[in-house]
Amino acid sequence: MKKYHVDMEPADCEWCAKPLPIVRHWRTLFCNKDCGNAYFNKLAADAAAEDRSRLKCEACGNPIKGAKRAHQRYCGRRCWPSKKRKIAPD
Ligand SMILES: [Zn+2]
Ligand SMILES: [Zn+2]
Repeated sequence: MKKYHVDMEPADCEWCAKPLPIVRHWRTLFCNKDCGNAYFNKLAADAAAEDRSRLKCEACGNPIKGAKRAHQRYCGRRCWPSKKRKIAPD
């Protein structure tokens, strides 16, 4: 049997931890493209979450915890500018 000349170390998928084939492209980090997509989606989500964790409320200056949007400006409803007296239903 022909032996492949490869220097690859055994490795696991970066996402699901399944073992990767020994003979693979050197850049292969995932067992399939879905794992790659999931991994990079998470990276992007983590980066976005990190950005959001640095947001500060424009009204009270407190950090906005668990901001749902990257451009959230207030930590909560109590800090929203109250231009309108009308209370909007949720
Ligand atoms: Zn995988
Ligand atoms: Zn606030």
